[in-house]
Amino acid sequence: MTRSEVLFEQAKKTIPGGVNSPVRAFNGVGGSPLFIEKADGAYIFDADGKKYIDYVGSWGPMILGHNHPKIRQAVLDAVENGLSFGAPTELEVKMAEKVISMVPSIEQVRMVSSGTEATMSAIRLARGFTNRDNILKFEGCYHGHADCLLVKAGSGALTLGQPSSPGIPEDFAKHTLTATYNDLDSVRAIFEQNPTSIACIILEPVAGNMNCIPPVEGFLQGLRAMCDEFGALLIIDEVMTGFRVSMSGAQGHYNVTPDLTTLGKVIGGGMPVGAFGGRKDIMQFIAPTGPVYQAGTLSGNPIAMSAGLAQMDALCEPGLYEALADKTKRVAEGFKAAADKHGIPLNITYVGGMFGFFFTEDNTPMTSFAQVTKCNMEHFRHFYHAMLDEGIYLAPSAYEAGFMSMAHGDAEIEYTLAAVDRIFAAMK
Ligand code: PMP
Repeated sequence: MTRSEVLFEQAKKTIPGGVNSPVRAFNGVGGSPLFIEKADGAYIFDADGKKYIDYVGSWGPMILGHNHPKIRQAVLDAVENGLSFGAPTELEVKMAEKVISMVPSIEQVRMVSSGTEATMSAIRLARGFTNRDNILKFEGCYHGHADCLLVKAGSGALTLGQPSSPGIPEDFAKHTLTATYNDLDSVRAIFEQNPTSIACIILEPVAGNMNCIPPVEGFLQGLRAMCDEFGALLIIDEVMTGFRVSMSGAQGHYNVTPDLTTLGKVIGGGMPVGAFGGRKDIMQFIAPTGPVYQAGTLSGNPIAMSAGLAQMDALCEPGLYEALADKTKRVAEGFKAAADKHGIPLNITYVGGMFGFFFTEDNTPMTSFAQVTKCNMEHFRHFYHAMLDEGIYLAPSAYEAGFMSMAHGDAEIEYTLAAVDRIFAAMK
């Protein structure tokens, strides 16, 4: 047995499923998860000392690579001053100013400690502000594990075959209406049936929890127009896409202005951080200026703010997002070229620093949840383990996006594509 396998058996005795977040258990690919000891640059190292090129990046935050010297130093400096105060700090002001300078639709922002808290709070705010109960989300989109959002969800919920979780009273779930991603007609039909009860639409501007599905042209703009027509707010969940698809998130890349934005992952530089922000008149509705309650003992934690700020500063370097997008394109197009060469049916998507690949005969653009669910899971599982054997770590589920980092250099990309070529050659 490997050390990871031993640790997994030990973990299962004291932790449900041996993990603190479900997808980590490798249910989507079978076998035993790697236990990670350390990470550096583009690489993670498991408990057996084996090294892998990492395309998970802690599920998105590590956009500059692991253990980045500037972020590490910022954390060490902050630690010198104490770990938490539960009182306002200058760092929080700097963080708010930074976020607002990068994302034009955000006029005010509140920090929280996870993406789930960000989306949960934004929805409460939207409901309080509009005085409406229903929300509209899309099948296959994941927004964290708050009750109202675990309805037809993506990510681990989908991987485990439980997109709508037990434990959520029907009385709650009935307020979550679900439409079809990239299908404006499905949204209009729901609005027409519920013209005055929908508080908000929440969506992933690039769906990254059902593999990687970019929005079709006009989809985001169409949602914006429909929200205006029916008096609902538009919440763009940029927990994954924020500071990854572009410096101003997917909303900047696709040129759409939401009322509220949720953030997470990259904004914390690897620390537990989330945020929600947007129009000032709406944000003023939050306590203590407004009646909608929201709070957090560790919100705006100084260590987390220092890490996040250091990462955001580094991301503002000119040309960084062009370079990141170029790396992503090379990897995704490289997968496709190898597949074509060996006659393996494969489709790909990519935008900014995220990518998807799909084992499917369908060679039309991947735009829908329905297309994703028709992919060949056996091929994915086989490919996944073959990549692990080659020393390449991908997300252990066919329903997750791949994440590129600035630490992936020519050597890592070339090694990855040579491995893909070997695997596809053997698969045909
Ligand atoms: N929204 C999106 C788009 C996400 O991808 C995730 C997590 N993958 C969340 C919200 C929830 O974030 P967290 O896991 O930090 O609670």
